[in-house]
Amino acid sequence: MIDQDVLVIGAGLAGMRAALAAAENGASVAVVTKVYPVRSHSNAAQGGINAALTDRGDKWEDHAYDTVKGSDYLGDQDAIEVMCREAGQEVITMEHMGTIFSRDDAGKLGVRAFGGQRQARTFFVADFTGQALLHVLHEQVLKHKVKVYEEWFVLSLLVEDGECCGAVVMDIRTGAIHVFRAKAVILASGGLGRVFEPSTNALICTGDGMAQAYRVGAPLMDMEMVQYHPTTLKSNGALMSEAARGEGAYLVNALGERFMKKYAPNMMELASRDVVSRSEQTEINEGRGINGCVLLDCRHLGEKKINERLLTIREVAKDFAGVDMVQEPVPIRPGMHYQMGGILTDVDGQTAVPGLYAAGETACVSVHGGNRLGANSLLDTLVFGRRSGVHASDRAKYTKHKNLTDASADNDRQHIRALLDRNGPGEMFGKVRLEMGQTMNQHLAVFRNQQGMETALAKVRELKQRYEKVIVHDKGKTFNTNLIFTLELGFMLDCAEAIVLGALERRESRGAHTRTDMPKRDDENWLKHILIAKTPEEPKVSYKPVVITQWKPQARTY
Ligand SMILES: Cc1cc2nc3c(=O)[nH]c(=O)nc-3n(C[C@H](O)[C@H](O)[C@H](O)COP(=O)(O)OP(=O)(O)OC[C@H]3O[C@@H](n4cnc5c(N)ncnc54)[C@H](O)[C@@H]3O)c2cc1C
Repeated sequence: MIDQDVLVIGAGLAGMRAALAAAENGASVAVVTKVYPVRSHSNAAQGGINAALTDRGDKWEDHAYDTVKGSDYLGDQDAIEVMCREAGQEVITMEHMGTIFSRDDAGKLGVRAFGGQRQARTFFVADFTGQALLHVLHEQVLKHKVKVYEEWFVLSLLVEDGECCGAVVMDIRTGAIHVFRAKAVILASGGLGRVFEPSTNALICTGDGMAQAYRVGAPLMDMEMVQYHPTTLKSNGALMSEAARGEGAYLVNALGERFMKKYAPNMMELASRDVVSRSEQTEINEGRGINGCVLLDCRHLGEKKINERLLTIREVAKDFAGVDMVQEPVPIRPGMHYQMGGILTDVDGQTAVPGLYAAGETACVSVHGGNRLGANSLLDTLVFGRRSGVHASDRAKYTKHKNLTDASADNDRQHIRALLDRNGPGEMFGKVRLEMGQTMNQHLAVFRNQQGMETALAKVRELKQRYEKVIVHDKGKTFNTNLIFTLELGFMLDCAEAIVLGALERRESRGAHTRTDMPKRDDENWLKHILIAKTPEEPKVSYKPVVITQWKPQARTY
């Protein structure tokens, strides 16, 4: 058994920020991560991180309003206020720790414009902001002697007397299964992008944390709110950062028109993501696309600026679309990018299960509501990662360890033994995973309707049954990735079901959830969160009011 005060699951930005805050607050901290820390998906974040700095003439209230409007009024305004008020200090702290942000001509921290915001307030490191931030936090965590268990896979959470008190974890290198005992557990295990196929997300974004929390009784909230990013490559779903449009790129249809002038005359290409993705999909559906895409035109930015600010995506477009954006427009289309929903938490990361915290993409605080603004997620990971770390380490000061033993892992050991003992000609995880991803991408994308969502639910339930018979052919203990991928698929199927159930429940269009059969937003009946909780029978649906502080819902135009 491995004991610590605070166990952090995940070594992306949320997990690292939480671990650092808890260690600074005097707790003994362990971080468990299924990949080497800087391979977490946070590393792939390109465009930047939002903050309203007063010395730029910006106000946190303006950032909060843009976020509320961006969320289509589904974000909880008390939580949004916390995030936006603390944003400036968080970015400055990261700068002081050593993040080398890009600067403007006067030598001050540079900002770029991002979607859905009336003012440029996105701080950035070229187009690899996530990598820069994550490396700095990794250094800090090492400096604070936090123990990091790299390539260890969390199988389940442990709950005793209604309180979360640890986790069961497999060392991927040896296959050995251990009990981690903790006075508080922080889930920072990232998003679920790969429940959809394709996705901009890394292959490891499989919603493990959401499913693990759900299985021990923490409800998931707003799971129907899945963000399709306006600019992804057709070939493999790779992201062309919003930074391109932030730097001034155009979106153009087959007729050469900047079509956004029809849909968002004021903000044009920099309207909120849901708005831009719907506009693109409408152009494509109405025959003004090119092979299922529209074009991202960066040519007028010039090679110098592209190399300075957008070098990574220039390379990605060359490698995966065979297009040099200096010479030619890049064909792009909306693609799955981000899960606004997740494990319901308060602003200190507390879930419905005492002792269990969640932060980052796995959590739903909720600051993104129906649509996340670009560059608000990195901010969310840092602010609420830190706050969870502080609160969890405070809890550890007055909490005793529960009476766990090595036998607490027996259920997981039996489950894995049964999985490995299963033989026969049955199918492998890959086919089920692909069918799930394609089903979700077909029926729960930019536009949805009742019939499509019902088809998806039936398919997901069929896949859940097939999953019970999936065969793991590799029976070994060392680096059994066949086993890991199979376990991940189990988590993904729970997430997929929650997404479809939430989407069927929400009988209106709001933010990323756009129903062609119910195209209007309906504040009277649906200005509320949808919660999905696990029960021994069917998952249970309930509601939670949206917290409104100072911004009453209005019609949303850009
Ligand atoms: C290509 C791309 C670009 C983006 N660009 C931006 C941007 O510019 N600005 C912005 O604000 N947002 C951006 N986002 C979104 C943002 O990067 C993510 O939402 C955010 O980084 C998530 O951070 P996280 O700490 O919650 O999770 P992650 O960084 O995904 O980390 C999850 C961690 O959990 C661990 N883990 C998961 N499951 C298990 C398990 N079972 N056992 C053990 N460990 C586990 C993983 O090993 C990993 O360490 C982008 C996203 C993508 C995909």
